[in-house]
Amino acid sequence: MSAVRPRLAVWKFSSCDGCQLSLLASHGDLLQMAQAMDIAYFAEASSSMRDGPYDISLVEGSVSTTADVQRLQRVREQSGLLVAIGACATGGGIQALRNPDDAQAWERAVYPRPQWLHSLPTATPLHAHVQVDHALQGCPVDAGQLQQLLAALLAGRRAEPAGGSVCMDCKVAGHVCVMVQGEPCLGPIIHAGCGALCPGLRRGCYGCFGPLPDASTSALAAQWLRLGASPRRLRLALHSIHVVPLPADAHASPED
Ligand code: SF4
Ligand code: SF4
Ligand code: SF4
Repeated sequence: MSAVRPRLAVWKFSSCDGCQLSLLASHGDLLQMAQAMDIAYFAEASSSMRDGPYDISLVEGSVSTTADVQRLQRVREQSGLLVAIGACATGGGIQALRNPDDAQAWERAVYPRPQWLHSLPTATPLHAHVQVDHALQGCPVDAGQLQQLLAALLAGRRAEPAGGSVCMDCKVAGHVCVMVQGEPCLGPIIHAGCGALCPGLRRGCYGCFGPLPDASTSALAAQWLRLGASPRRLRLALHSIHVVPLPADAHASPED
């Protein structure tokens, strides 16, 4: 990283802008960060956009079009460190809900001129195309986690994201488990990092931080069914923001 103020760029790919907005919504924290960094490119926040190279690039969104692939490669070439922010960038996000289906059939159903679209058959996370140095989960990304990461990078410290599942966050926060009170919750299979926001509001986690790689989805599915959730509700929960592989119990008729 350069001796002068590190140059930061913020990029958007296929996404809803929510992760960039959560950065902007951090108000004073962003201004503090701006004093320590040179925000050289952030189209959502400023009309002043300066060319690279950049020390750190924060990248929101998934890769969903042929143009996305080429632009992401250019961003990678210009960036010292590339940080994927949010569910779209780290897992494909909402765009990737089309992946198990025939995307072209959806295009024909929704758009009068689907031939004008240049979307890929699947939406994929950044790491499927380029090297990603750090990844922050969440839909949207947690602004506090992002600021901690940037502070660590500025100080030259190792930046480790929170490990374990939302259940770990839940215990640390001292919340009473909603699942033992009968409310289905995806927390046991979902990345920690949000501070167990939803159980803290007495509702089940719906998985916005994405599934852990070694998650036992079938054990969780069995517990949901024991609590009276229908296979359809389970399927919708597992395919709401991320496409979590469905356990056998969730494969049932659409009417269930
Ligand atoms: S992760 Fe969620 S909030 Fe962030 S850009 Fe994607 S859809 Fe929007
Ligand atoms: S409420 Fe959900 S996240 Fe919290 S301990 Fe229970 S199952 Fe885990
Ligand atoms: S509890 Fe689950 S759904 Fe709620 S913010 Fe955390 S990861 Fe997202």
